[in-house]
Amino acid sequence: MKIVFATGNVNKLKEINEISKGSGIEFILPPDGFSPVEDGCTFEENSYKKAKEANRVSQMMSLADDSGLCVEALNGAPGLYSARYAGTQQEKIDKILQELKSFKNRDAKFVCVMTLLDTDGNILHVSKGECFGKIAETQSGKNGFGYDPVFIVENTDLTMADMSEDEKNKISHRAKALQDMISFIKTKFLL
Ligand code: IMP
Repeated sequence: MKIVFATGNVNKLKEINEISKGSGIEFILPPDGFSPVEDGCTFEENSYKKAKEANRVSQMMSLADDSGLCVEALNGAPGLYSARYAGTQQEKIDKILQELKSFKNRDAKFVCVMTLLDTDGNILHVSKGECFGKIAETQSGKNGFGYDPVFIVENTDLTMADMSEDEKNKISHRAKALQDMISFIKTKFLL
């Protein structure tokens, strides 16, 4: 079955389809006109807004995610503002490293919330995935994107950027939220 995935980012779509390979579900991009406004106060609200916009332009079953990095010593920042915490991605990383300089506690987590809407735009299911770890003192790794080079995954000494795509897709917040979502879709529509 085909489900619209509320993104304009082809790489994100590829990652989602990679994780759901073999499930019988294919995620596709929204049609032209998809223009979500992410002005919610929670990951839940923003993922709902994105899914609703994808449903508006496609009239199809729609899935959206909203995600971010939450650093404990920074009271959960950058959180919802992860994508706009500073100018370039390097500036965002530098800002976090600078802000954490005087803190011993470097605990952090990535959070991802997904919302699935039916063809009429009603909520079918909401799922959440978290990936725990610590903010590194210095950057490491060339893979991934965003804050991956400074996020050391719990129980490993690797940053997310040190991991291969396959490794990251087994433990990431997005993979966990998506696995839960796929189980729901399979049980409700494909079994
Ligand atoms: P969005 O969910 O696409 O709005 O992403 C929010 C922001 O959170 C991204 O621009 C990244 O800065 C950050 N982020 C979300 N997931 C990841 C990840 O897996 N690795 C690194 N950064 C991430």
